[in-house]
Amino acid sequence: MQIDQARIAEIVERVVESFEGRLGQEVATGGIFSTVSQAVEAAVGAQKRLSLLDREKREQLVAAMREAAMANARLLAEMAVRETGMGRVEDKILKNLLAAQKTPGTEDLQTQAYTGDHGLTLLEMAPFGVIGAITPVTNPSETIINNSIGMIAAGNAVVFSPHPSARSTSLKTVEILHEAIVRAGGPCNLIAAVQKPSMEAAQALMGHPGVNMLVATGGPGVVRAVLSSGKKAIGAGAGNPPVVVDQTADIDKAARDIIAGASFDNNLPCIGEKELIVVEEVADRLIQRLQREGAYILRAGDIDALTRAAFIVKEDGGGGCTATARKLAPNPAFIGRDVGMILREIGIDVGRDVRLAVMEVGPDHPFVTHEQMMPVLPLVKVSTVEDAIALAVKVEHGNRHTAIMHSKHVDYMTELARSIKTTIFVKNAPSYAGIGAGGEGFCSFTIAGPTGEGLTSARSFTRQRRCVLVDGFRII
Ligand code: NAD
Repeated sequence: MQIDQARIAEIVERVVESFEGRLGQEVATGGIFSTVSQAVEAAVGAQKRLSLLDREKREQLVAAMREAAMANARLLAEMAVRETGMGRVEDKILKNLLAAQKTPGTEDLQTQAYTGDHGLTLLEMAPFGVIGAITPVTNPSETIINNSIGMIAAGNAVVFSPHPSARSTSLKTVEILHEAIVRAGGPCNLIAAVQKPSMEAAQALMGHPGVNMLVATGGPGVVRAVLSSGKKAIGAGAGNPPVVVDQTADIDKAARDIIAGASFDNNLPCIGEKELIVVEEVADRLIQRLQREGAYILRAGDIDALTRAAFIVKEDGGGGCTATARKLAPNPAFIGRDVGMILREIGIDVGRDVRLAVMEVGPDHPFVTHEQMMPVLPLVKVSTVEDAIALAVKVEHGNRHTAIMHSKHVDYMTELARSIKTTIFVKNAPSYAGIGAGGEGFCSFTIAGPTGEGLTSARSFTRQRRCVLVDGFRII
């Protein structure tokens, strides 16, 4: 029997592949490794194998990940609430399903072509290679599902460094998606993670030469860290989304939408309404409607006690020539907790149906100026819509993240959108309409305001490559 060189090379490649696959499985369970180096090296091999598969196969892997994520949406939601003590199971299920169903796949990658007197030029969206992805405690499984689908659809492998406080949920998500890929005939270790996630592991991932791109979803510290890494980095950072209600708004609908958005997953989402700014003329009516729709309105006398309990004083910085500063920070024991538990701490008992507390405060109150991620919404009355817009811009702190407005006046909505310059601006709906839940458009759990990609999707995880053919394939 004749056998040519190309066939021999193909057979050798297959044998090496299956051997590497088995080796990978020996040191890892479902993509989980003891060290960052092992995880990255395995991901480098997996990405090479992925690059040999065609786009249709890649889409099959994406479909398998979607299916596995949907099948495990409840399991992961329950794990996350149990492990982190934050959020609501039913809402986390919706978030997992949203990530599984509405994260774009390979259809997000589009080739551009230029034709003319000199032939044909193609501009293609190519993978970066191996991506290091750092994920938050607030959306542990959702971010991993969303990132994995987008990154792999774009032809990359990904090594996750999850938040240590959401370790089990995050590693379980990695394991589930990894298994789905392997069952669908994809390479082992296309998704990987370290067994013991930590700040040190995240830093090792950032510095590893096998990692070509970094994607950080979290607060300002991690965004700063990836942007100083010297690598291509996407930073999806903190927000403090204001919701503005003006005198032209449908107040009944605004009240319903605000409760739905601000209480969703106990206000953990970075896009959630964090402070309510309302024009005086309609403020009392809005407060009444919020109460009628089930919000608990805190009395003036209880606000100080809640504020003292909900914030702690933290030492910030110091070292070298810098003096240590003391600043207020949200009390971690209150972040993402049920409102019933939060209010119990100050001696108030509310029924289990109450999802949100609302309290009237001044514009400089810590609940307004800090991203507190609690189902307690501060309400600030202002005289005019112009004042409302100015305050919204001020308290968003230039994060360029998310803002929401309830209004029927096109000029007012345009004015807020133009001045606040956020990545997401939602009009007359709960904040989550901005990530595709009840609003048009795809879903993302990595919203990159600081680095400008916006709601990230497969195309955000690609590099452009140009292919030029001179004087050929021009057919007109
Ligand atoms: P966090 O910043 O504490 O942690 C996020 C991740 O970064 C974790 O994995 C953590 O271990 C790691 N990390 C933190 N500092 C680091 C450093 N200096 N070096 C290396 N790794 C570091 O955030 P969190 O509490 O998990 O999540 C809540 C924050 O994330 C909020 O500020 C929220 O607005 C933001 N967030 C933003 C988006 C978005 O899409 N823009 C999505 C979710 C959460």
